[in-house]
Amino acid sequence: MFARSLGELERRVVGCRLCPRLVAHREHAAAHPRPAFAGQDYWARPVPGFGDPGAGVYLLGLATSAHGGNRTGRAFTGNATADWLVAAMHRAGLANQPTSEHRDDGLRLHGAWMASAVRCAPPHDRPTSDERRACARYLDAELELLTGVRVIVCLGALAWNAAAAWAGLRPRPPFGHGREQSVSSGRLLLGCYHPSPQNTRTGLLTEPMLDDVLRRATALAALPAS
Ligand code: SF4
Repeated sequence: MFARSLGELERRVVGCRLCPRLVAHREHAAAHPRPAFAGQDYWARPVPGFGDPGAGVYLLGLATSAHGGNRTGRAFTGNATADWLVAAMHRAGLANQPTSEHRDDGLRLHGAWMASAVRCAPPHDRPTSDERRACARYLDAELELLTGVRVIVCLGALAWNAAAAWAGLRPRPPFGHGREQSVSSGRLLLGCYHPSPQNTRTGLLTEPMLDDVLRRATALAALPAS
């Protein structure tokens, strides 16, 4: 077993420097903050998963955001994507509050876990295939430890592809919003458009669409309805 506990896995993730390009980029972003974040101490390390160790629903993004998770040190925290996602999780009963702003903001997840397939921030949000492969060890280990996970909500096509690779699906099934794909050990992939501003501002992903996906995920994971 790669790690015997979530705590051990977190320590291994946070100390990882396997991808030189991403180590450089996460530190470059910290040294060049956006004006709104000037003067803040960036996390500038890999961002571990976050949530309820008894989770039935696992929300998977592709990669850490340079000025979101890479700044705050928590997955889906401190940017517009986090605002959308966590508000929807709160409506679905998966989060105790509708905001995710910083690591000490009191956010707690109920029955859910959030993580990125690539745990460092890549330039232009695009990890290479080698970087995706290198970081897959952490997704594997996390899903091995989170034995209650029944549904993996894949936020965007690249997260779907990472989950399909984790599951060993050949040929890789095409991504689709709302698409469901059974994988081994009784788990299921559930596709969802990524809640990035690019998708939410254009209406590709609406609040009712995201609510429907989370409602479906909680039903499949047999979590109590909110
Ligand atoms: S992307 Fe993953 S494997 Fe690469 S340095 Fe970051 S944590 Fe390590």
